[in-house]
Amino acid sequence: MIAKNLVQVIARIREAELRFSRKPCSVSLLAVSKKQSVGKIQEAIEAGQVAFGESYLQEALIKIPQFQVEWHFIGSIQSNKTRKIAEQFSWVHTVSDIHVARRLSQQRPQHLPPLNICLQVNISQEAEKSGIAIEDVEPLAAYCSTLANLKLRGLMAIPAYKKDFMEQRTQFHLLKLLWDELNKKQFHLDTLSMGMSEDFEAAIAEGATLVRIGSAIFGQRA
Ligand SMILES: *Cc1c(COP(=O)(O)O)cnc(C)c1O
Repeated sequence: MIAKNLVQVIARIREAELRFSRKPCSVSLLAVSKKQSVGKIQEAIEAGQVAFGESYLQEALIKIPQFQVEWHFIGSIQSNKTRKIAEQFSWVHTVSDIHVARRLSQQRPQHLPPLNICLQVNISQEAEKSGIAIEDVEPLAAYCSTLANLKLRGLMAIPAYKKDFMEQRTQFHLLKLLWDELNKKQFHLDTLSMGMSEDFEAAIAEGATLVRIGSAIFGQRA
């Protein structure tokens, strides 16, 4: 079941790369396993999946010791949780303020490589959504670049839900433009983390390098 879903999702990613003139295999898949059982994670690993995303720290801390895979934190970050995140994850996609960034760098254990981070951008400018405003991205990127134990890899967004494919593309396009702008300056970003089960093809059309997919692989969450 999980293996079959994974094959289908990967096939759709490869088709979208072709259809939108993206380089073959330029889009990687993060399997979002939040609120999914360890049995399902095991199945996905046996089917070859290597990168997993979790949103809730307490839940993730139970799963992480059980599997030698690449763990990405994709949930909102309370500053009293940064130590465990810095210790246990390879990536954090949801950095959106300097205090959290500074703490993650300070608390990253020295025997580990730098923590890979993406800045979360509130691309649809929704008051209730997390992420920084577009105009604050460059200053935060500049600050993060000075932190010894972080490696700034790119940008991430969760746009407002749209059913229409072209409307989905319009929102992802904004994040791509911002990413291109930073890459014309002193930043060397290689990651554009955008697209979920309902909109990942539109994200690939607009340049996503990593899609975060949960329910299309694992089914409905508990
Ligand atoms: C839950 C979640 C996903 C996956 O959502 P699906 O719609 O199940 O694919 C992706 N990104 C983030 C940040 C999430 O919280």
